[in-house]
Amino acid sequence: MIRTDVVIIGGGATGCGIARDLALRGIAHYLVEKDDFAAGATGACHGLLHSGGRYVVTDPVAAKECIEENMILRSIGKKCVEVTGGLFVRLPGDSKRFRDRFLRSCEEVGIPTEVLSPTRALDLVPALNPVLEEAIKVPDCSIDPFRLCMLNAITSRQKGGGILTHHKVIEIVKERGRCVGIKAQDQFTRQVKEIRARVIINATGAWGAKVAALSGSDVPMTLSKGSLVITNHRLTNMVINRLRPPSDGDIIVPNEAVCLAGTTSIAVDDPDAVEVLSREVDIVVSEAERMIPNFRTTRMIRAYTGVRPLLKADGGDSRAISRGFKIIDHDNGMYSILGGKLTTYRLMAEKMVDAIMRDFGLDTPCQTAEKPLDGQDELSGYPLSKRLKDISGIICECELVSRDEVERVVNRIGTKYIGDIQHRTRLGMGPCQGGFCTYRALGIMHDMGRVTSEESMRVLREFLQRRFKGIRPALWGDQLREEQLVESIYLGILSMGNDL
Ligand SMILES: Cc1cc2nc3c(=O)[nH]c(=O)nc-3n(C[C@H](O)[C@H](O)[C@H](O)COP(=O)(O)OP(=O)(O)OC[C@H]3O[C@@H](n4cnc5c(N)ncnc54)[C@H](O)[C@@H]3O)c2cc1C
Repeated sequence: MIRTDVVIIGGGATGCGIARDLALRGIAHYLVEKDDFAAGATGACHGLLHSGGRYVVTDPVAAKECIEENMILRSIGKKCVEVTGGLFVRLPGDSKRFRDRFLRSCEEVGIPTEVLSPTRALDLVPALNPVLEEAIKVPDCSIDPFRLCMLNAITSRQKGGGILTHHKVIEIVKERGRCVGIKAQDQFTRQVKEIRARVIINATGAWGAKVAALSGSDVPMTLSKGSLVITNHRLTNMVINRLRPPSDGDIIVPNEAVCLAGTTSIAVDDPDAVEVLSREVDIVVSEAERMIPNFRTTRMIRAYTGVRPLLKADGGDSRAISRGFKIIDHDNGMYSILGGKLTTYRLMAEKMVDAIMRDFGLDTPCQTAEKPLDGQDELSGYPLSKRLKDISGIICECELVSRDEVERVVNRIGTKYIGDIQHRTRLGMGPCQGGFCTYRALGIMHDMGRVTSEESMRVLREFLQRRFKGIRPALWGDQLREEQLVESIYLGILSMGNDL
């Protein structure tokens, strides 16, 4: 049995942010995640570091939190934030009255704006629809949620925090009505570990109600599914938003070599039973096309969906629910932290750890707003020039990932999962979506003695099934042709037909 002060359940941005904050305040902790980091809404989001503009008219409190956190994150997380700037574009038919309210609200909340003529907007983003009537520039940025989680986790590890990924919390241990620990099951070996702690934090986002129920507690949540599509190249270097009340398909975010467009908003009951519907892909592509006309003819490489953990509202449109967050003290040794945004994860973590410090009778102040994220220097340790030099060892041609890089990750984290390599190197994230590099990465793990032949098949099967879930809704044109080739490799050459 392991003993610590705080157990955090959930390795999304909120959980990882809490681990970093606890580490910097010297509190012993363990973080337990059922999958890899950013496996929930964090890794399935738009990757927009909001300026607050999206919410400024409907939810000024959340908008103010966003602009303040935007400024903090761009200073502490330079290697995971790209300072792109953003445009809110007004197309023919979009309300002028909303535009006036938008500008007034931005001024009240403190979001800097600049009104641009169509010519000036087209200079900045030539792919924009030339019929636009104007654009308003705001300080939106693009953020890499995987890197963000991993960088937060580095501080936790450096300060002695424990991290268990691929361990699902299956029980909350109670004694005399109080939560005193958790039991977590290794998702590969099925072994169960017990961790005892003074406080348990439920930071499981959309799974919050399920995990709270393990301790007999209730959390009031509304779940809202949002789906997005990924293009195979960058159509804009700035974030593009539609200047209208929040609605379907009104944001396009550049991220590394691609663009992410979305989203939809559909109420769901179970975060484990969601998939992208083809009509959602149609909606997103049609709306994105209104802002960037060549969006429709651009190759899509996949679609994905995530579930927003929103605070409960009675009926109505989930877009109208506040993007603010809430900390619930269950008065039994467990807290739940709900709602919020990726953009406000640091603030959420600060408020959560402040509450724990009060419980522990300590007053060490929060340092996360000033201290740059640890580990950022290592992110630039494999620059493009070195990748090109290692070209003979490249195993993922789309993202230029070499054998050395894969071996380094496998040695460092000792994983059996292809997804873990993907999140840390971008292996398989390009146009072929891992069609060619997946079996090569698996071969490397096998050569290194990480997986047996039998385990290889299980790992490959699970990975391919997940991969296909994302590819299926975006299969047409060039992507369909490529997928037929990939299918013949796996079904024909590798004889996986009976396993899938
Ligand atoms: C489609 C979509 C787009 C979005 N776009 C943006 C955006 O552009 N910008 C922005 O700021 N915000 C955005 N958001 C909101 C943002 O993604 C979330 O508010 C934020 O990521 C929530 O983080 P979290 O850590 O609280 O939850 P999650 O990221 O969902 O993390 C919860 C974690 O708990 C784990 N877990 C669940 N059950 C267990 C268990 N029993 N044991 C162990 N672990 C468990 C899950 O695997 C998961 O990793 C978007 C959300 C969605 C759905």
